[in-house]
Amino acid sequence: MIIVTRAGVTRDEVDHIRERVEAAGLRTHLSVGEHRTIIGCVGDETLLSERALLSVPGVEAVHPVLKPYKLASREFSPTPTRIPFGATEIGGEEFVVVAGPCSVEGPEMMAETGARVAADGARGLRGGAFKPRTSPYSFRGMGEEGLRILAHVREATGLPVVTEVMDTRQVELVAGYADVLQVGARNMQNFALLTEVGRLHRPVLLKRGMSATVKDLLLAAEYVMSQGNMQVVLCERGIRTFETATRNTFDLAAIPVLKRETHLPVFADPSHAGGKRHLVAPLSYAAMAAGADGLIVEVHPCPEEATSDGEQSLTFDEFRGLMRGLEPFAAAVGRTVASTGAPVPA
Ligand code: PEP
Ligand code: MN
Repeated sequence: MIIVTRAGVTRDEVDHIRERVEAAGLRTHLSVGEHRTIIGCVGDETLLSERALLSVPGVEAVHPVLKPYKLASREFSPTPTRIPFGATEIGGEEFVVVAGPCSVEGPEMMAETGARVAADGARGLRGGAFKPRTSPYSFRGMGEEGLRILAHVREATGLPVVTEVMDTRQVELVAGYADVLQVGARNMQNFALLTEVGRLHRPVLLKRGMSATVKDLLLAAEYVMSQGNMQVVLCERGIRTFETATRNTFDLAAIPVLKRETHLPVFADPSHAGGKRHLVAPLSYAAMAAGADGLIVEVHPCPEEATSDGEQSLTFDEFRGLMRGLEPFAAAVGRTVASTGAPVPA
């Protein structure tokens, strides 16, 4: 249920409305607009009397939230959520690009990647220390050593770190190093993990499951938010279909659908969606045109030597070309994108 306050409502009135709702056993969430405040109420709505609420001073209207995802829905918070991220924010005017290898492979390659992508406009560094691999015999990440390397590169470059957490038992450890906790496609419906990251005050990058609907993704975000953590970035990374020409099928339409349904920022991952290097730029441009707030992209100093996802990783020069290529699209959609530092080689 959402309570819309009248224009010019006082702080005391808002506090009083909240006390009323909380006394009935529900939780409240405030969305403060320029003229009005919206008070979202979460919990058993049958415990609230709409009639009684309408007579509380400052209340203008009371509406049920019809969507199954309450906190994530746009009705709940009409203003888009902005999440502080290093020197910028996610969900604001700037289109934010996070770049780095699929897996952290060692200190040198991470230091080199961090320096290069930062110089070319990346605002965040990615790299998996704990890797979900289809085969148990594939490289499964450097673990805590990988996290230490990421933290070190953050110090050197100033880039905030996005890295995956796969298990509830790792949450504390990963949160000790990461600026943003990535919950991967394979864990999108790991409800214990979603609950655990929801207890932290740390942004979560939630990737869409391979066979998850948009509604499933929003309900997964709701799990995190229902624990009190409102800082969720959704990520479209392609879904499984009958098509085999691409690694996954990039569901471009999911981006504007999500932007309409939720106030949460939406990212795209063109690397895992396409699965091939040459698809990364076109999918990135399309994502920006469709309204995405940013990208997470795989970049490697030498893709052919990568321990995972080499075929879809960009070289440094290709990454620079991508950042350059985004500029006209950013101008077309009225956004900014960090510019690259050096000219594109001929
Ligand atoms: C990744 O980001 O490296 C990754 C494993 O992504 P996804 O969970 O989307 O497959
Ligand atoms: Mn990968």
